[in-house]
Order: sequence, then C-alpha cells, then structure tokens
Amino acid sequence: MATWAKRLAGVRGVLLDISGVLYDGGAGGGTAIAGSVEAVAS
Ligand SMILES: [Mg+2]
Repeated sequence: MATWAKRLAGVRGVLLDISGVLYDGGAGGGTAIAGSVEAVAS
C-alpha cells in the first residue's frame, strides 16, 4: 500500500475551507452557519 494510503487509512472525511461555508468567524469565537451542522451530519 502506498505511504499516503496508509496515512489516510481510517480517515472518513476531510473538511476544507470551512470559513464562510460552514462557519462564520468573528468576535467571541464565531458561529456555525445555519444548517451547516445538519449538512455535515447527513
Ligand atoms: Mg472560505
């Protein structure tokens, strides 16, 4: 098995560029965008 494949064994997903898509950053730590939690959970 390739080295990269061994390193990714067991990884079920990767989230990229979540800022502004799933999460609004800001003062106080920011907040999840409405519906993003449900979208990722499904
Ligand atoms: Mg972004």
